[in-house]
This record gives sequence, structure tokens and C-alpha cells, in this order.
Amino acid sequence: MEKNKTATLLLWGLLGVLVVTCAVLAPGTLSAYQALTVEQNATPTPTADNRNMLAITPDPNSTPTPTVMLLKIGTQGDEVQRLQERLKELGYYTGEVDGQYGQGTAQAVILFQNQHGISGDGVAGEQTRALVYAADAEIYVPTPEPSATPSVLSMGDDNGAVKAMQQRLKELGYLSGNVDGDFGAGTKAAVALFQEQNGLNSDGIAAEQTLSLLFSDAAKQAVATPTPDPNAMPILVNRTHTVDASYQAADLVKLKDYLSSDLVTVKGDDIQGNRTAADALTALFTGAKEAGITGWQISAGYRSLQYQQTLFDKQVAEYQSQGMSKAKAVSATSLTVAEPGASEHHTGLAFDITVADTTFKGTEQQKWLAKNCWNYGFIIRYQEDKEDITGFLAECWHIRYVGVTHSVAMRDQNLCLEEYLGEV
Ligand SMILES: [Zn+2]
Repeated sequence: MEKNKTATLLLWGLLGVLVVTCAVLAPGTLSAYQALTVEQNATPTPTADNRNMLAITPDPNSTPTPTVMLLKIGTQGDEVQRLQERLKELGYYTGEVDGQYGQGTAQAVILFQNQHGISGDGVAGEQTRALVYAADAEIYVPTPEPSATPSVLSMGDDNGAVKAMQQRLKELGYLSGNVDGDFGAGTKAAVALFQEQNGLNSDGIAAEQTLSLLFSDAAKQAVATPTPDPNAMPILVNRTHTVDASYQAADLVKLKDYLSSDLVTVKGDDIQGNRTAADALTALFTGAKEAGITGWQISAGYRSLQYQQTLFDKQVAEYQSQGMSKAKAVSATSLTVAEPGASEHHTGLAFDITVADTTFKGTEQQKWLAKNCWNYGFIIRYQEDKEDITGFLAECWHIRYVGVTHSVAMRDQNLCLEEYLGEV
């Protein structure tokens, strides 16, 4: 019995040590694994503290729960950082990868959204983020800023800056053609018109000065140039209806630049003509080309009074050198050369049409012109059977633009301009 008592006491003592040990090894000082081991060894029910500890311990093998929340200005954390990293990789974000969703991040998200066809609100929701992390997400392509391109734009250019310029020219009423990014003849004319109406040198080349004025608030709206009235009567210029030094030919263009060299050769860089008449010349030579008649040349167009004086004096001197008296030389000259003020060339509506290196009369070009010019608004101004009315010897090369309404009527009634206007 004595021995049994001792054994029982010993057993209780050991149990007591075990309980004390458990109490000393309080929660928080043990790893989850150790706590579990101790509990399992010590058996029964875990304490409330132990349950909590197990629940908050992260399990390295579990997948993170998918986040469906919106990332927007003010959001912070790992998801923002991940988004910034990806946007940086794609070129949309240039700021710091700091997990702070600020203005810069929102701006990058807007750029990304715009480039991917989503309306850019700068908030990264599920759809945006799915596209951001997709393998085929596009890298950032910057759109050209017109104001940031001070380079020169001219005919033949084909790019985004031309397109922006065309858009602006159209807004202001200078361009009537397409906004297609292609700097062609129509765009050149629109640039020249803008320059002309805004006090710049009108060369049709959009250099820095033109572009900066064009995109500024100071750019003027286009003023419509009046379209010539097709029913207005043609101007008469002859020896009895002269023009003086105050007369100004309207809307002159340089024919060498204005007309296609595929249609006609302009003999002289400075030959000018009225714009409407020049357009009719293009139609005329296009029609001739379609009929198989080419090889045209323009040897005269607009003339100033001063230039006409030079021509007249030259011819008088030529006759005098042949032995004529001054009076005789002047009267002989006036049969073929108009006195200054009496030439139709002052109007910019008359042109001398020739063929290089040959007499025009009798050529296939001359025959085609005599028959067809009327359909394009031109008349053969000085004809053989009208010499006594016009006062000039016949000139098969000299055509005058009067507009197609009048030219067709004059052909059909066989009237020269003086007869047609009742000024005989
Ligand atoms: Zn002429």
C-alpha cells in the first residue's frame, strides 16, 4: 500500500508538470505547427486563443481570392502597383510604380482605354484590367500633336500633320476637298488662299509661320471669292474701248504652276492668266488630249500696259529700221500690235496658243482649236471675215475667254464680240 501511494503521487506530479508546461508555452510564442503538435500531444480541445491563431495564419499554398473592386484615383496597394508596372511595360505609364493611384495612373489608363476602343474614364474596372493583362494588349502609340510639329508641310507630304492641317483649313472654310492626310493640289490651293487672306506670302507651302497662325485664334475665317456670273456680259477691249492704268486684271495665276505640263507647255515662267479662264484652258487641253491632239504651247497671256508699250515700240523700231517714216511705222504696227490700253491681253482673259517651232496656221492643233474652243468658253477673237469690224488682221492663235454661254451663242450666230455686244 505504501508503494502504491508513492506511485500515485509521482504520477500526479508528472501530470502537474505537463499542465504547467502547457500554461507557460502561451499562444503567440509558438508557430502554428508547434502549437498543433503540442495540442495533439497534449490532446483535447484547443483553447479559443489557439483557434484564432490558426485562422489568421496565411497558407502559402492557397490562391488569392480574385479582386473585383474598381481601381481609381485614391486606391492604393499591390493591385495598383501591378497595374502601374504593366502600363509602364506597355508604354502608357511613365510615373513611379508606387502603388498609389494618382492623376498619372488615371491618365495612363485613359490612354490605354482610348487606344483599345473603350471610352476613357481613367477607372480600371474588370474589363479594362482584363485587356491590360491580356497577352495581346497593344503598346502605346502616341497620336501626333499638330502644335508640336513645327516642320514644313508641302505638296507630296502624306501624314497625320497634314491631316490635322486639312481639318483646320476645312473648319475655317479654306478647304473644300477631303481631309485625307494627303497634301495634293487642292490642299496647296487652300493653304495659298489662307496665306493670301491672312497677310502671309502666298506660296502654298505650310511652314512654321503659316502653321502657327493657322492653329491660333487669330486665324481668319475664309472670305468667299465671288463666283463670276456666267450671264454677265464679256468685257470689250479694243481701240475704241480701252483700259487705263487704273484697270486691274482680276484673280491672276501663274500658268506654269497652275496648268499641268502634261497638257500644255507654258512658254515663259511669268505668263499669267485669270483663274477661271485658266481652269477653262485645262478643260480645253484635256478635251484636245482625249481627241488625240497634243503638243500645245501658250506663248502669251496677261500683259500690263507697260509691257504692251514695250511690244509696240519694238515693232515701230523694227519698221523704222526697214526705212519707214515714224508715222508710217506706227500705223503699220497698229495693224498687228494693239496700242497700250487697247489689247485684250490686259484682261488676263486672252491667250496666244501656238505649237513649238512651227507656224500655227494649218496645223492639226489650229484646226482643232478653231472648231472646238467654243465648247470651252473661248472664241477665236479676230477672224478673217470680221477684220473690218474688229480692226485687227485675223489671228488664228489668239483666243479669248468669254464663258461658254456667250461663246456658243457667238459661234451659232457667227458674231464677233463687237457685234455680239452691239458695239459696232
Ligand atoms: Zn494675242
